[in-house]
Amino acid sequence: MSELFTGAPVAKAIRASLEERIALLKQRGREPCLAILRCGEDPGALSYERAAIRGCELAGIQTRCIALPWTADTEELLHEVDRANGDSAIHGILVLRPLPRQIDTQRVFRRLRNDKDVDGITVPSLAGVFVGRDWGFAPCTAEACVAMLDHYGVPLSGSRVVILGRSLIVGRPLSMLLCARDATVTLCHSRTPDPAFLSRQADILISAVGKAGMVDEGFVHSGQIVLDVGVNEGIDGNICGDVAFDRVSPLVRAISPVPRGVGTVTTAILARHVVSAAENLF
Ligand code: NAP
Repeated sequence: MSELFTGAPVAKAIRASLEERIALLKQRGREPCLAILRCGEDPGALSYERAAIRGCELAGIQTRCIALPWTADTEELLHEVDRANGDSAIHGILVLRPLPRQIDTQRVFRRLRNDKDVDGITVPSLAGVFVGRDWGFAPCTAEACVAMLDHYGVPLSGSRVVILGRSLIVGRPLSMLLCARDATVTLCHSRTPDPAFLSRQADILISAVGKAGMVDEGFVHSGQIVLDVGVNEGIDGNICGDVAFDRVSPLVRAISPVPRGVGTVTTAILARHVVSAAENLF
């Protein structure tokens, strides 16, 4: 039977590492605070908002939610970004996606202050990840995958990693974080011929595609560590990952479940970024 890499102990350890730092900030009169900006009521955005609030609350971090209607335009959202940028009581800003079609997403991201960009969506933050310098924050989910592997003692140096998905919030920055840790990384996407064949060569397989059950027996081997980043609605209406868990878990060395896996760690990383942003803003 494979080992289960659940997110809760990882998140707990991250939050424990923040306690002293938060206490110090509070002593200096600063309550770390995250602003969450959202348009509309997308279920995925609402679910991430609830998780982010809970992750921050558990760590002792304040949150402020600013919700605009789905009909909001770019100027309205930019106005809220400007307010959060200029508010010295707010240290981190999370802009939830999806944003409505009429909003110029790139303009919104460019307006965000880099030092408050706790989810690593601005170009300077991503540049920092790609150059390997501490210029900002990495996207929380990408960092959560690395935290998960570190927590469970998976060696990265010299390991062969296959990542399914090349988005700017997961696959691409994760490839750079792992490359910086001396892993050999293969990044697959929708045009990759035979991703299952490539996946079978990996010591560590990470799926961030968004297709329920796509990763099946044909993608894995018995010595493999599998991290499932996908969050999908299964045919039974329940949340599930990209990995066909029941079929794959008996075949691999270790696997993270969905829910209770990487997502749990993502919000703890978010909390850590808010604390770092609050410290950096002195
Ligand atoms: P995205 O922007 O839609 O990217 C999906 C990626 O998967 C794309 O790069 C796409 O390739 C690739 N892809 C599609 N079909 C593929 C296939 N058959 N083989 C290999 N790659 C394929 O999605 P995302 O925002 O990165 O999110 C991915 C999943 O992670 C979603 O389920 C999302 O809900 C979840 N997620 C979880 C967390 C968390 O904290 N747990 C956080 C963020 C996202 P192309 O580039 O060629 O289109």
